[in-house]
Amino acid sequence: MSDGTTLCQTCGDVAVTKFLSLGLQPACLFPANAAEAETEQAWPLDLGFCPQCSLVQITEPVDERILFAGDYHHIAGLTGGYRRHLQGLADELAKFRDSLDGAPRRRSVIEIGSNDGSLLDELAKRDFGVLGVDPNGVETAAGSPVVKEYFSADLATRLLAGHQPADVVLALNTFAHITNLRDFLDGVCTVLNDDGIFVSESHYLPDLLQTLQYDFAYHEHSRYYSLMALQAVFKLHGLEVFHIERIPTHGGSVRVYAGFEGAHEVRDSVSTLRTYEDTLQLTSEATYREFAGRVEEHRDRLRALLAEVKRDGSRVAAASSPARAVTLLNYCSLGPAELDFLSEISPRKIGKLSPGTHIPVVHQDRLCGPDQPEYALLLSWHIIDELASRLRQEGFTGKFLVPLPEPQVLDEL
Ligand SMILES: [Zn+2]
Repeated sequence: MSDGTTLCQTCGDVAVTKFLSLGLQPACLFPANAAEAETEQAWPLDLGFCPQCSLVQITEPVDERILFAGDYHHIAGLTGGYRRHLQGLADELAKFRDSLDGAPRRRSVIEIGSNDGSLLDELAKRDFGVLGVDPNGVETAAGSPVVKEYFSADLATRLLAGHQPADVVLALNTFAHITNLRDFLDGVCTVLNDDGIFVSESHYLPDLLQTLQYDFAYHEHSRYYSLMALQAVFKLHGLEVFHIERIPTHGGSVRVYAGFEGAHEVRDSVSTLRTYEDTLQLTSEATYREFAGRVEEHRDRLRALLAEVKRDGSRVAAASSPARAVTLLNYCSLGPAELDFLSEISPRKIGKLSPGTHIPVVHQDRLCGPDQPEYALLLSWHIIDELASRLRQEGFTGKFLVPLPEPQVLDEL
């Protein structure tokens, strides 16, 4: 709106209260060279919360069609841990299917944001009929079909013309990213069977607040959910959460099972988590002001730690370049003066520059080879054990720095 007010994406008529400005932030697209870096765009990244439903949201979202243009970063590099996570989810869904009453029949799944199709293939192995929807989707290893479009109410209507309604609709880590939430949920309701389930996984707001994960915020990720916020938006569409689990993905997430109101028995997990949230004051401005204060302090402490370890001439490079690193590097103004390079194994990023901060991205061999730096900053700090042990195996002998939740040198890893 022109007066600077942002209205809650769910509540519609409630103004969002801004609580944190993370400065100008680019999209997570890696410029190929200095000339491309010069024309790179950046937008203000400000977070606000809704005092009615607690939804935390970017106050001026950038259109996903701009952000996801070109070579998108999620396709490459699913970690081993995440692959196991997807297998576990496929097992859960198979168990759920087997518990359903009625004549056995092949159940169908639509996965929105199917990425490289790992989960689709796992579900196909367990005898689900599968369909992926992902504008950047690729041919899956096992040949599961993928519609290469953005999911929307319009696409849902077209899908239904050629398919049975879905027994399961999945949206893993896409549900927080889509720009038009209401249109998306209209589409989910269109394709979902009356007794079908909509399963989503998203970062969990209370975990983000408690462990100071401001690096979760980037333009592609336009909202951050509590159970309270999810219940509010589902209600508008005649849906309800009937089961919810906290899972460790991305440093603290929830797996949420929803269906049409009354279609499934609501489990105790819902009231238990809601009771917990009621103690956290997620609709109170003080909660978010306190968080913002800790974020600002953190930036100063991380910069001071880097300056301290470099005082004796030690070199520091960053290990890996996940999407969440873009916000941290830009907000803390960490560029080539602070970090010699970012190491990567993805050929899509090697040889390019980091978004906004323009640090060279080089092959991981440089971090683990004979002329290696003394310190490696672990930007994927949420999978610290997996990452550190991989780097040790590859030959990195220096010390590890972690940026969050508390900037520190880890001697023991
Ligand atoms: Zn709201």
